[in-house]
Amino acid sequence: RKGNVIVTGASSGLGLATAKTLAETGKWNVIMACRDFLKAERAAKAAGMARENYQVMHLDLASLDSVRQFVAAFRQSGRPLDVLVCNAAVYFPTAKEPTYTADGFEMSVGVNHLGHFLLARLLVEDLNVSDYPLRRLIIVGSITGNTNTLAGNIPPKANLGDLRGLVGGLNELSGSTMIDGGEFDGAKAYKDSKVCNMLTMQEFHRRFHEETGITFASLYPGCIATTGLFREHIPLFRLLFPPFQKYITKGFVSEEEAGKRLAQVVSDPSLTKSGVYWSWNNYSASFENQLSEEASDPEKAKKVWEVSEKLVGLA
Ligand code: NDP
Repeated sequence: RKGNVIVTGASSGLGLATAKTLAETGKWNVIMACRDFLKAERAAKAAGMARENYQVMHLDLASLDSVRQFVAAFRQSGRPLDVLVCNAAVYFPTAKEPTYTADGFEMSVGVNHLGHFLLARLLVEDLNVSDYPLRRLIIVGSITGNTNTLAGNIPPKANLGDLRGLVGGLNELSGSTMIDGGEFDGAKAYKDSKVCNMLTMQEFHRRFHEETGITFASLYPGCIATTGLFREHIPLFRLLFPPFQKYITKGFVSEEEAGKRLAQVVSDPSLTKSGVYWSWNNYSASFENQLSEEASDPEKAKKVWEVSEKLVGLA
């Protein structure tokens, strides 16, 4: 049978390119989990995806209710789940004020980390009962949260501190909108959320891999400087960022190439190792990359997991 893969945020950028690559193999049924149903349908059509290879299902990661409804609707469809890709993200680099999810969490960490955390915690049960030979849970990471890299050292740097803001629920009423308890900074909130993504993947690996055989992985697909992720940035940045990445840092990858990389992590029979953060060199060969000290700290991973469970109502 075909594999069933859920890709969050498949209506644009990396998610769409990945959905297209997987759909074209004819071996995957892609469930595009998107907040804007019509946009996703249009995107799939424009990308030339064949009707029999995908469905769009509504998922708004900025609402825990929506996450639970998505899981219920997916289960009702009766399809087994073989691979889950947590890809969607928001980024507010120029925001002066925080915005909030339906549950009152600062938006970047609320969507990128907490929404995905609840989704993955619920759906790991479904992955566990699938009879598919290859079961994977993939969370898209980023170099920007990784302070052991050049890109990760551009201020403001990711830093989760002692998690006091997260413990408080990430809004001013309870103390702070930032995980470390500091002043709101949209660029830092994105990087912090990506550190949470990478810590979550590793904690899943420690808690579930041996018992279930599921492969847990993260990746940095390269700098896809053309995606909608940068839509909130100032126009000059949007103009100069792609050529800067192309010619100066040489870290630029096209959406198509990045989609192939993520599709590889979904389906390549050789990428079965669990607990790994994948990257690619200039010749597009994958290798296991090192995470920064904070993004690989098991104590912090455990704490982020426990606090997140409370915030999403699982503990
Ligand atoms: P895009 O902005 O193109 O795609 C983000 C996707 O997330 C869109 O489909 C968007 O939906 C969706 N999304 C946003 N908010 C929600 C929500 N509340 N509920 C459901 N879906 C939502 O960005 P990219 O393709 O660049 O980003 C994809 C991933 O790649 C992210 O995890 C990002 O961190 C990561 N990444 C990107 C890099 C880059 O250089 N671009 C580099 C490294 C990692 P909609 O279409 O409705 O807006």
